[in-house]
Amino acid sequence: MPNEKPKFYLTTPIYYTNGLPHIGHTYTTVVADAIRRYKRMRGYEVVMTTGTDEHGVNVERAAQKAGIPESEYVARMAVAWKALWDDLGIPADEFVRTTDLGHVRTVQWLFKLCKENGYVYKGHYTGQYCIYDNAFVNDAKPGDTCPDCGRPLETITEENYFFKLSAFQKPLLDFYKKNPNFIQPETRKNEIISFVEGGLKDLSITRTTVRWGIPVPGEEPHVFYVWFDALTAYLSAVGGPDYEKRGFWPCDLHLVGKDIIRFHTVYWPAFLMAAMLPVPKQVWVHGWFLMDSTKMSKSKGNVVLPRPIANMLGMDAMRYFLMREVVFGQDGNFSYDALVTRYNSDLANGLGNLASRTAAMIEKNFGGAIPKPGPRLPQDEALAKVASETIGEAFEQFENFAFARSLEAIWAAIAAADKYLTSEQPWALGDSEADTQRKATILWTTAELLRIVTVLAYPVLPDSTAKVWALLGQPGRVSSVELDGLRWGQLVTGVQLGKAQALFPRVDRQEAIERIEAMANEELNPAPAAPAVVPAHATTASGAAAAPAAAEKIGIEDFAKVEMRVGQIKTAERIVGADKLLKLTVDIGTEIRQICAGIAQYYEPEKLIGRKVAVVVNLAPRKLRGVESNGMIVAASVGPEGRPVLAGFPDEDVEIGARLK
Ligand SMILES: [Zn+2]
Repeated sequence: MPNEKPKFYLTTPIYYTNGLPHIGHTYTTVVADAIRRYKRMRGYEVVMTTGTDEHGVNVERAAQKAGIPESEYVARMAVAWKALWDDLGIPADEFVRTTDLGHVRTVQWLFKLCKENGYVYKGHYTGQYCIYDNAFVNDAKPGDTCPDCGRPLETITEENYFFKLSAFQKPLLDFYKKNPNFIQPETRKNEIISFVEGGLKDLSITRTTVRWGIPVPGEEPHVFYVWFDALTAYLSAVGGPDYEKRGFWPCDLHLVGKDIIRFHTVYWPAFLMAAMLPVPKQVWVHGWFLMDSTKMSKSKGNVVLPRPIANMLGMDAMRYFLMREVVFGQDGNFSYDALVTRYNSDLANGLGNLASRTAAMIEKNFGGAIPKPGPRLPQDEALAKVASETIGEAFEQFENFAFARSLEAIWAAIAAADKYLTSEQPWALGDSEADTQRKATILWTTAELLRIVTVLAYPVLPDSTAKVWALLGQPGRVSSVELDGLRWGQLVTGVQLGKAQALFPRVDRQEAIERIEAMANEELNPAPAAPAVVPAHATTASGAAAAPAAAEKIGIEDFAKVEMRVGQIKTAERIVGADKLLKLTVDIGTEIRQICAGIAQYYEPEKLIGRKVAVVVNLAPRKLRGVESNGMIVAASVGPEGRPVLAGFPDEDVEIGARLK
């Protein structure tokens, strides 16, 4: 057999679909993606799984509220979740839905194995039940009221299948002892060990009061209950009963939030032990991002959405912030202020600035070709040493999932290069042979450090490091560099620099925050219908609900309500964070208006200045991508892609402000 790559399998939780993803879900998925990229650079064949947990009472209710069947509701949700991960550049290798047939079969197979091995029995579950909501309320006492609707609860007994969790106290404790790295970080391990030492109760794993679930074969109306269903998705994603063929089980790493640790470190290994299947190698428990020290939730109105941040600052900025700001494993506070501050200081002024000034100096002094270095001075050797040590440090910290430390080490190297340039002052050197050679050495040394930093930062900043790599004219892709072979001195010289690109344009802190918040607001409260000229950004599956009304004739009095006038474009500029929009100022005769138009992909801003256009002037002002737009420019929508063509007045010298009738 040819050299087969070692395999690595990691998962995020299978997210519950009674809502849409916020920054908390994004955090886990971003970390999983960074680990995946890192492992690939170390030569592993990697599979990363995420997915949607689509069963249960809450989904039943949400579907009912939306007036659609459950199957349609969960299909829409799965599309929305998957689209988000794709848009953010963090797609799963396996996206598993718990309504997938392969998953259904895996759950039923796992149950059969547990049952055959004697760990499943029929019993009765007694709990407090809300007959209005059709659900048991966990941890409620007789006489309590329903936390959802406030009605009194009833004590109900139903027939359930039980899993003999109590039989696994000793096997689990032995397992934790033999596999000391199974639960990370350490503090979490102690918490779980004492929980298991306290004794385990058998677990009800089916329900007859829930309708929307995976049926227990031959035992209808029993359906599997939450965890027996959801956890098994990790196994179904890589082959289910045929897992040995693909070779990715046991899982190397489950990444989970601290609220679901018990299910992953107690129930899940116990289910697998009962079925005599291999148990995952590690569960890594991370903390939450809090807003003003409380957990984010839609009902509290403090949800942070990922798309507006990615639109405004780029996905890399969000990734960097999430992984740099808090120690992985602990809670951290999310604030837009800290996000934008880090963006400007670490990315715009740090990596972005080092890359652009190094490239500019090579351009100016060496015609854009990376020079060969001359003899090295001690200060050059010192920077080489910093870079070499950074490789080791960044590796070691990343291996331990100390992402913040790893990034800190990389950014310390960037700071060292800045300091080196400041003290060596290549710009102050002349054109003599000796000076030119010295400049070559300084710029080679800086560019080489930049190359190393670029490789090390790639797993966290995949888009921008790819740009720096291309800027340095280095062969291949940064993602294909073998991390284990990374050394000082491998910079390829003589190659031409690539085209300079804006890496991290500096942003005004206040404006950036306002725009992000405005975009989040648009996403949470979508406008009922979007005008034709401005492409609406589809946010969720539910956004697609408004179907075009049949063409209906209107009276002249309706048309008269629309006030259209001739306007002249005074200024036009692109908008950071909105690729399709141009921000225009338009003279409409009586005043100058700011109007956003979705024409940026088809019209150069400079060429629009002075052009006369048709403007709807009495449209209520609104914000597009967080930028105020007061009016609308009229355009034809041409071809299947809806290319906008501005309506105009080429033949006549029309007066600005003239009304269109
Ligand atoms: Zn209720």
